[in-house]
Amino acid sequence: MEKVRGLKCRECGRGYPATPVHVCEFCFGPLEVEYDYEALRGRVTRASIEAGPPSMWRYKDLLPIDGEIAVGHHVGFTPLTRARNLADELGVAELYIKNDSVCHPTWSFKDRVVAVAVTKAKEFGFDTVACASTGNLANSVAAHAAEGRLKSYIFIPADLEQGKVLATLVYNPTLVAVHGTYDQVNRLCSEIADKYRWAFVNVNFRPYYSEGSKSYGFEIVEQLGWRPPQHIVVPCAGGSLITKIWKAIKELAALGLIAPPSGTRMHAAQALGCGPIVTMIKKDTDVLVPVRPDTIAKSLAIGNPADGYYAYRTTKESGGFGEHATDEEIIEGMLLLARTEGIFTETAGGVTVAATKKLIETGAIPRDESVVISITGNGLKTPDALYERLETHVKIGPSLSAFDRALADLKSQTA
Ligand SMILES: *Cc1c(COP(=O)(O)O)cnc(C)c1O
Ligand SMILES: [Zn+2]
Repeated sequence: MEKVRGLKCRECGRGYPATPVHVCEFCFGPLEVEYDYEALRGRVTRASIEAGPPSMWRYKDLLPIDGEIAVGHHVGFTPLTRARNLADELGVAELYIKNDSVCHPTWSFKDRVVAVAVTKAKEFGFDTVACASTGNLANSVAAHAAEGRLKSYIFIPADLEQGKVLATLVYNPTLVAVHGTYDQVNRLCSEIADKYRWAFVNVNFRPYYSEGSKSYGFEIVEQLGWRPPQHIVVPCAGGSLITKIWKAIKELAALGLIAPPSGTRMHAAQALGCGPIVTMIKKDTDVLVPVRPDTIAKSLAIGNPADGYYAYRTTKESGGFGEHATDEEIIEGMLLLARTEGIFTETAGGVTVAATKKLIETGAIPRDESVVISITGNGLKTPDALYERLETHVKIGPSLSAFDRALADLKSQTA
């Protein structure tokens, strides 16, 4: 049975065979994978999914992979945890964290998209993979290329965090640091993709790559007992993840695994220093105005997001909203999540926590409704953001009396 019908233009609807193409020849619209839901209905059931492996591949039937999985066998099925402490702090009744800060193997949700794209690249017979990255994608493409014995070229803005550079280099790709913004790196990669026969996971492989993000949405719904939450807050860079979580929920409804409509409202979170999608939402316009990023949330620093328009449409269609976070609020968000739930997320997670707080305060998220916060990356990759904020409390020699004195000092300070 063929589950994938082909690719389809999101704008004019024209169909294409499932090959490594990503733009419509007629209207230049982006292409998306189209499935045969008729064929899938009845074959994909809650039971068939639950009997699958504890990874994103329990949803393989809803991903554009024809053959065997080539890399990333253990990606996904990350914890969804009830966050009672943070819920108390934010004043909401039912709050959950979908925690991809512990996604295998490179600690961000990008492993989901890359596992699909690299498997697909091997299916199509490519020997080289590549990407333009704000950091996490670089880590993940390099790691999966190593596992899949492929060559890799990774393009990043030269001012990326040291942690992310190191966590790419360790896998031995060819790392190209470009003096410019991510948007300039991305434009360069489009030109390179035209010239060399490489699988650029987020350029010519974008239709396949982006489908991997659906697994994050499928898992949220399954882990809540096949009950979609009323709100999901999602950090946006290129704007793909938020649209694909929404697509995932719609697919579950189309397959009869949940009752439509889901009633889930999708909310976008961005940094104030790079928030063109949230700006669209707040101004209620479908015209995206590109910005030059200036934020500590570098993994979200895309000033001209490829899926910005669709991310805006997703929030609009679902009845969601969006919020910006300042650099200070991002740090407060990271510290709040760590202090209340014991989860150390990167700056992107700080953005999402901060935005959620505002969405609750303004009433966009009512306090008695269920909320999932999307935590998409790990804090150990971006320690730079916190070095100046955190300090060792007590420094002493190795004696009990020194500790007693220090403890007395501490107590007098807090008294
Ligand atoms: C890339 C990234 C995102 C946003 O993904 P898009 O699909 O480009 O919107 C969110 N969080 C983290 C940690 C990321 O690395
Ligand atoms: Zn078209």
